[in-house]
Amino acid sequence: MSGERVGIDIGGTKTHGVVLDDAGAVVEQWRSPTGFGPEAVVATAIAAVEKLATLRGIDPAAFASVGIGIPGRVDSALGHVGHAVNLGVDSLDLGAQLAARLGRPVRVENDVNAAALGAHHLLARGQSRSMAYLNLGTGLAAGIVLDGALWRGARGVAGEIGHIPVDPQGELCPCGQRGCLETLASGSALARLWPEGSIDGRAPRAGELFAAASEGDPAATRAAERIVENIAAAVRILVLTVDVDAVVIGGGLSSLGAPLIGGVRARLAADARTSPFLASLDLGDRVLLVPGDVDVAAVGAALVGAAGSAAGNAAGSPQPEVVPA
Ligand SMILES: [Zn+2]
Repeated sequence: MSGERVGIDIGGTKTHGVVLDDAGAVVEQWRSPTGFGPEAVVATAIAAVEKLATLRGIDPAAFASVGIGIPGRVDSALGHVGHAVNLGVDSLDLGAQLAARLGRPVRVENDVNAAALGAHHLLARGQSRSMAYLNLGTGLAAGIVLDGALWRGARGVAGEIGHIPVDPQGELCPCGQRGCLETLASGSALARLWPEGSIDGRAPRAGELFAAASEGDPAATRAAERIVENIAAAVRILVLTVDVDAVVIGGGLSSLGAPLIGGVRARLAADARTSPFLASLDLGDRVLLVPGDVDVAAVGAALVGAAGSAAGNAAGSPQPEVVPA
């Protein structure tokens, strides 16, 4: 038995596997396309574990642990995945199926939660430091790490701040509410906020929006400001709710880099100028961008596999019908 831990991040198009050594450093990586549908998803995960074992020159059973990060509604206690629309998975006992095929327990975690653990680990926050990982992908959701462990909440929805309504007159959200934060600050918000950027029916990309805004396009500038303003609101909500030491921004929109994090910090600074209360919170200093060169979800999945996600908050409770990020 080696001390090496495997983490597999199953994404909508790609699956990324990593091996962590005893010290928690990434010593191997593997990427492959993700299959569509429950059987293909299971096969993709098995193939990734086997490939990583081959690359390490060991038997898959010799890994100390295996953990999976996957989108959708995940019951981490039971290893069940539901409503992972992009993967073609409606209901799948992923943990049990992988355990049967690999002959070992396999832990499964929601991808945003896994990424939160991974970011906490990679940013060397230290066990006592708290962190929220704000995932800006197609949707908007956060994973919360307190005292080095995930905080899922009583029903597993802690951090689902994308479904906090912030505009009563806003768009109808797939969750059934109106004006949710997710409809105003995520990849899926781009086409809504900047319809001018759609090309032949294809939704605009974040890079295109920010490029047009930097060239002075008025509609793009307004839309980019609106998105940045609502991301700043998400940061504020996380700090005012759990008062984490840091909010780390990750997910697809984080690849915008400096324009995004600079814009969010500028917005937080502007709000602080008119609010001594907000000024006292130093929000701009507490918001960070995730390191761009590592898949934090795969690293976090490896930590989940090693039971890095301490119990203490309920997983396995029934979850309400929240649209996954
Ligand atoms: Zn919603």
